[in-house]
Amino acid sequence: MGRVAVVTGGTRGIGAAIAKALKAAGHTVAANYAGNDEVANAFAAETGIKVFKWDVSDYEACKAGLAQVEAELGPVEILVNNAGITRDAMFHKMTVDQWKAVIDTNLSGLFNMTHPVWPGMRDRKFGRIINISSINGQKGQAGQANYSAAKAGDIGFTKALAQEGARAGITVNVITPGYIGTEMVRAIDEKVLNERIIPQIPVGRLGEPEEIARCVVFLAADDAGFITGSTLSANGGQYLT
Ligand code: NDP
Repeated sequence: MGRVAVVTGGTRGIGAAIAKALKAAGHTVAANYAGNDEVANAFAAETGIKVFKWDVSDYEACKAGLAQVEAELGPVEILVNNAGITRDAMFHKMTVDQWKAVIDTNLSGLFNMTHPVWPGMRDRKFGRIINISSINGQKGQAGQANYSAAKAGDIGFTKALAQEGARAGITVNVITPGYIGTEMVRAIDEKVLNERIIPQIPVGRLGEPEEIARCVVFLAADDAGFITGSTLSANGGQYLT
């Protein structure tokens, strides 16, 4: 059955693959993005998926954006909290701004997006929340104290909310991707990527955005109702939990 889905950061990278896969699975998708209009408009033209601009770190903007989505497409039944940023620095060099930007987007963004849709999901007795965390929220990563903290927080948020939503038919799950070949990862120095990161991945390659998208489609399905509070690691065997 087709449902209304919102994917944050849904216009490029992993989010774009998720938005396309949800559409292919029969859902009506809204793809949110932060500011890159050119990429978003090209994505909308290519896929026919509606795009909506707002900043997930701003609670009021999320409320207004979600209200617009609901007015145009109907009540949100599937929410994929995918938008994320990195502001890497070794801790002794990390600025307060780098810390706050990552926490505000990657952790508070989940509160800001989920809180407005939660009452409707409870009333309708159905919801699918899928959070995109990271392997680095599980194992920690030097140079990413901010990102690792936020992504570990996403996992705790998922587990708490899963318990609250269970009786109301809302499942809440989190996916922890390993290194996926998007702009975020391609921005890493090529030597570091080839000599240090890829050799740590047992399957011997980066993941593809579509491989994460398939996990989302599975967890978003109506018949995935018994899976909640789980952490789905998709990392090529790099970190076994
Ligand atoms: P990209 O950098 O390729 O894309 C990020 C997307 O998020 C863009 O659509 C961007 O919009 C949007 N975005 C960023 N900040 C905000 C904001 N404040 N409000 C709304 N939208 C925002 O990221 P990836 O596809 O690589 O990553 C997607 C998710 O997966 C992130 O949460 C990331 O942490 C996680 N992840 C990624 C891994 C990887 O290897 N790539 C590994 C593990 C986890 P715009 O285009 O307008 O800037």
